[in-house]
Amino acid sequence: MGERTQLVAGNWKMNGLAADGVALARAVAARAAEPHRCDLLVCPPFTLIAAVAEALAGSDVGLGGQDCHAAASGAFTGCISAEMLRDAGCSHAIVGHSERRHTCGESDADVRAKAEAAWRAGLVAIVCVGEIRAEREAGRAVEIVSAQLAGSLPAGTGAAKLVIAYAPVWAIGTGLTATLADIAEIHAAIRRQIPAGTRILYGGSVNPRNAAEILALPEVDGALVGGASLKAEDFWAIAQAAR
Ligand code: PEP
Repeated sequence: MGERTQLVAGNWKMNGLAADGVALARAVAARAAEPHRCDLLVCPPFTLIAAVAEALAGSDVGLGGQDCHAAASGAFTGCISAEMLRDAGCSHAIVGHSERRHTCGESDADVRAKAEAAWRAGLVAIVCVGEIRAEREAGRAVEIVSAQLAGSLPAGTGAAKLVIAYAPVWAIGTGLTATLADIAEIHAAIRRQIPAGTRILYGGSVNPRNAAEILALPEVDGALVGGASLKAEDFWAIAQAAR
């Protein structure tokens, strides 16, 4: 992936049985055979990773996990390690998604340990940060995101193994998006805290109608797409909006 080529990453979340996931992956791979300006990544549920890897074979669509455990192996029932993701064909792991921070109680320290685990396994860590609505309304979004970053990024962070996703919690899955000015402000603040060349994605109800104006912002290096990544045509339309 070239330096700051935009990245459009689909987070399928807990959606898809085998037939749906394979059909979606095949449709994305077929579209990706057409010219495109951005890097593409899909992050299916763990159960679909092997089948999606097979469906994407021969395409330039990358594969990521939606989370990983900090340990390489051991007595952690129900968890998946970064090494397992790598073994199954992944190049990336999302860590610190707000749905894990807020519903599973993951702390910045947990996220940092997971990012370290991703690197140990040779994966790129997509580290998610974002404020809740009350923090945005209190004018604390920059402060909150900066603190999350400071706590979530391991020492030795390098642009080649890191992607940041700014995904304000109140915008995820709600149909609400941050204003362009707010996105630009937060991305500029994040940029000051991370190594040069690191990509910063925006996430939060990105869809084919709003993608072009979001992806046109100079500090936006791509999108983390949830709901709209479940339809190949919508995901492709977002990818086509990359600058
Ligand atoms: C996400 O999962 O990070 C996300 C941005 O979801 P959605 O696009 O559905 O808001």
